[in-house]
Amino acid sequence: MFGKVLIANRGEIALRVHRACREMGIRTVAVHSTADADAMHVRLADEAICIGPPSATDSYLNIPAIISAAEIAQADAIHPGYGFLSENARFAEIVEKHKIVWIGPDPEHIRKMGDKVEAKRTAAMLGLPLVPGSDGPVTSNEEALQVASEIGYPVLVKAASGGGGRGMKVIPDAASLPGLIAQAKAEAKAAFGDDTVYIEKYLSEPRHIEFQVFGDGKGGAVHMGERDCSLQRRHQKVLEEAPSPALNAETRAEMGEIVRQAVAKLKYRGAGTMEFLYEDGKFYFIEMNTRLQVEHPVTEAVTGIDLVREQIRVAAGLPLSVTQEQIRFEGHAIECRINAEDPATFSPSPGRVTDFHAPGGLHVRVDSALYDGYRIPPYYDSLIAKLIVYGANRNDALMRLRRALEEFVIHGPKTTIPLHQALIEDPEFIDGEYSIKWLERWLAKRAAG
Ligand code: ADP
Repeated sequence: MFGKVLIANRGEIALRVHRACREMGIRTVAVHSTADADAMHVRLADEAICIGPPSATDSYLNIPAIISAAEIAQADAIHPGYGFLSENARFAEIVEKHKIVWIGPDPEHIRKMGDKVEAKRTAAMLGLPLVPGSDGPVTSNEEALQVASEIGYPVLVKAASGGGGRGMKVIPDAASLPGLIAQAKAEAKAAFGDDTVYIEKYLSEPRHIEFQVFGDGKGGAVHMGERDCSLQRRHQKVLEEAPSPALNAETRAEMGEIVRQAVAKLKYRGAGTMEFLYEDGKFYFIEMNTRLQVEHPVTEAVTGIDLVREQIRVAAGLPLSVTQEQIRFEGHAIECRINAEDPATFSPSPGRVTDFHAPGGLHVRVDSALYDGYRIPPYYDSLIAKLIVYGANRNDALMRLRRALEEFVIHGPKTTIPLHQALIEDPEFIDGEYSIKWLERWLAKRAAG
């Protein structure tokens, strides 16, 4: 096993990785920008190295600085967390070239899945069901019009290098197609430096259901069930739960097996997530994330498996610690993403935390790097805490979530805690009756008073 792991991230996920390492007897190296000198991950790690100024481009995305830090600290391995360099195939390759272990999938798999056109092609080859759409990129308006009329409007134009919903447009009819494709291309070019786009049928009221997978890199693979991440605002997840209120055990086992076989065929290594849209009882693959997800704790809660420990074990060449038959799904878990944002306008609200009290008690988990007096820097993502509750069933989990949100105190910055409190009182949410469109409609109604 590794003696020392460098954590190339910040915030709650840097703490999450640190915790798994410490519990495995591994020492940790934190890296940080000058803006994060007094951050919790820096305080807790065994060693800390400053890698640059506040801007993420110059620090958490600064590959030479991170590699130098790993060499100076003599780290055996690097864990990238999520975001930042976690899905950067070039970084993974550079890490490996320096004889440092990359705690993540084969760089080739990261590259393949990072290009969505290539990912869809691979998914089709692996036998996964796809959203109907263009066979690869669309290169002309004529071709786009042809595909769109075959699959029927509305259609969605998406960026091959897309992420976070950018470069994505709904096209209602043929007349607006050329203009919207041009817009999507321009947006994609600006955001990703690649204006390759493709077309997909626009599903009207799907749910977002994703499967957690793990591979040993040699053809062994398991699935750890699904997460329902349909509650989204601007394609960003807000609240996630496992299991999905829309699936039964039979559908889970059936789809889980299809996904597991795909991951095995790919000889995938480490943690991954296969994302699907689910409508009228059918699954449609949209993408694969080749990293740990923000919402991984709900899977940990219902399976009892420590996903970060599993990532580290696989990277160290150990076999998966569980077989598919040993994985049991029990109870229900819900995660609320708490952001330092105005709960009505969603504008960022960084600044000093004047009072902090995290909820506790049975089956309540808070993953957060906040502490009393901490100053939330304005340079990074606004996620400041994840509250995860577990219950014997969905209703128990909801009752516990209500209680935990009530206890949560974060004074200073504005947070989205009140939003979650209102959300979980909604009868449709309580019934589990929601699609990916639901939250935006709910927010619009709320804004209208
Ligand atoms: P990104 O990588 O930009 O986040 P995804 O392909 O993961 O893009 O899609 C993000 C979200 O956009 C999905 O969770 C879903 O809400 C919506 N979406 C994507 N594809 C479709 C589709 N074909 N029809 C309807 N909604 C879609």
